[in-house]
Order: sequence, then C-alpha cells, then structure tokens
Amino acid sequence: MEATLAITEAVTKKPKPDPNSLQFGKTFTDHMFTMEYKADEGWTNPQIKPYAPIEIDPAAMVFHYSQTVFEGLKAYRTKDGVVRLFRPEENFKRLNRSNKRLSIPPIDEKSAIEHLKQLVALEKDWIPTEEGTSLYIRPFVIATEPSLQVAPAKSYQLFIILSPVGSYYPTGIQPVSIMVEEDTTRAVRGGTGSAKTGGNYSAGYNAQAKATANGHAQVLWLDGMEKKYIEEVGSMNVFFKINGEIVTPELSDSILEGITRKSVIELLKSWKVPVSERRVTMQEVKDAYDNGTLEEAFGSGTAAVISPIGELTWRDTTMTINGGETGDVTTSLYKTITNIQTGKERDPFGWTLKL
Ligand SMILES: *Cc1c(COP(=O)(O)O)cnc(C)c1O
Repeated sequence: MEATLAITEAVTKKPKPDPNSLQFGKTFTDHMFTMEYKADEGWTNPQIKPYAPIEIDPAAMVFHYSQTVFEGLKAYRTKDGVVRLFRPEENFKRLNRSNKRLSIPPIDEKSAIEHLKQLVALEKDWIPTEEGTSLYIRPFVIATEPSLQVAPAKSYQLFIILSPVGSYYPTGIQPVSIMVEEDTTRAVRGGTGSAKTGGNYSAGYNAQAKATANGHAQVLWLDGMEKKYIEEVGSMNVFFKINGEIVTPELSDSILEGITRKSVIELLKSWKVPVSERRVTMQEVKDAYDNGTLEEAFGSGTAAVISPIGELTWRDTTMTINGGETGDVTTSLYKTITNIQTGKERDPFGWTLKL
C-alpha cells in the first residue's frame, strides 16, 4: 500500500517566465512529485517536494538498458482561474501499458491522478492563461537499481515534472512540410513502438536531421517490414481525408495510441463524418493525390493538438495538399478540441477534469 502524500513546500519560489517567450520544455515549476518502487514494498513514499536535481547511482539501470517510460499531457487555465486537465485517466492507463512492455511494475492510476491534481493545484499560478498556452505535464519512470545485470530492475522512481509552454502556433495554425522517411525505421512489429519509452525517440533523430536539412518540419514514418504502410508523422498520429473519408492507420504494436487520435476519431463519429482505421499505403495517398481526391492531411498529438500537412514529399514527388492551406475538417477539429480543452465550448464527452 502507498503511504499518504507528503508535501514539502519550496522555501524560495522562482520568478514566473514571460508567457510570450516560453520555449517548449525549458522552464520548470517550483515543485515535483516523486514516488518510489521497492521490491518488498511496491510503490511507496509519494511526495511533492521542491523541484531540484536528483542524486542517482551511475550504475542505475536506466542509464544502461533504457528501462524507462514517460507520458505527456496538459493543464489549461482560463482567465477566471479554472484549471482543466485533458483526459488524464487515458495517460495513466497508457503509462501502465508502457510499463508492461518495459517490464516496469504498474502504478495505481487513481492515486496517480489524485497526486497529479494536488501538484497542479499547488502550481496553478505557473499555468499561463494566454491563448494557446498551457502547462505541460511530464510523468516518467526510471529504473534506479544500481546493477549492470541485463534484467528488470528491482527499484524504480516515478516523477511528475511541470513546464509552462507557449502557444504552438503564435501566428495561427500553420501547415507544415513533411518528408517521407524510407531509410530508417521508428518502430517494428513486436518492438516497443506502441510504448512511450525514451529509445524510440532518439532512434528518430537522424531522420529528423535529414528532414530539417531538406527544409521539412518532420518525417512521415513507414512500417519497418515493407516500407509501404504509413505509421506516424514525427511524434504524432496521422490522418488523411481521401474522397470525403477520414482515414488513419489502424493501431498495431508499432504505432503509439495517441489520446488526441482517439479524441479526433470520437469527434468525427459524433459529427457523422466517415472515419476509418485501416492500413494505408503511401501509394494509396499518392494515387489519391494524382486523381485529385487527397483533400486534407494532418498530424495529431498533445503538443500541437492538430498539425495540418501542407506539403508531403515522397521520393521525387512533392504533393501540395489543399493548396498548402489548412483544410476545413482539420480546422474544425483543431478549434473544437482546443475549445473543449480550455472550457470555451461545452464538453459533451466528459474529457476534461476540473481541479
Ligand atoms: C505521444 C505520441 C503521440 C501522440 O499521443 P497523444 O496522446 O495524442 O499526445 C503519437 N505518436 C508518438 C510516437 C508519441 O510519442
């Protein structure tokens, strides 16, 4: 059983940053949440304490065999002071799915949400209220046992750290250019692609560097077996509107199950817009482009919420989608989801959790 939450307040508080000049994930609040796992006690010792560097044994197993998982979600605050979390229960469910894949013991999802609520409440003055801004929440688990044995660790630590983030679109929602990556692979069948675990991301840096050097914002990942099927775009799920139907790759163990993806599908169904989850080949998208039925494309994820794709480069073809402008369905999804997140629109799905 977990002990009760111990709270130690920071003696000195840091100055709050200018909400208009925040860079993603560079500024952290005054406090953090931590909890430990010990083989004989389970998850124990939940604490909220001053945000500070930690001391850790250089033999801690996370450094050697990457036994670690993370999550990402956001809290939004309105000018009248109401704070909302977006579908946090989905994030902790997914954290436990990632834990399972990485042989990390599961956490209690309900108490994790309670602890998160207390942490965010304590830090509510850190949540910017300007249009498009939010507080990014990063829960993560690391294997702390000092050992070089190639085996699951016997001790872990879970942290939740908080970072105020600026608007992803300071000048309004902007379509981006995407490059289809055909050399390296993000995830393979039977691998760890459906888990949020560190190694999946550093494995994509090479391809991202190549895309950036060629003037693209992100890469589109194909399946690792045949390099034929579309999987994701950068660290987002991907959707296409082809001949009136919204299509997204069906989930597999090489695709991360996004909570924004799930919300997009639920919203489209409520709007009676045809949506299907199925395998999509790059050739199908190219054929749709050639015959004029590729109508819209966008990525979905917590950071950008919805990111329209204006250009897609595959081999020697650059496809300009919807004249390089944000499409109507893309715009409606962006507006509705962000309005629900910030309380500007009614939340018929019960997605938001008010503090
Ligand atoms: C986190 C993530 C997503 C998006 O998930 P959301 O829950 O919508 O933020 C998509 N793909 C990858 C690889 C991710 O890590």
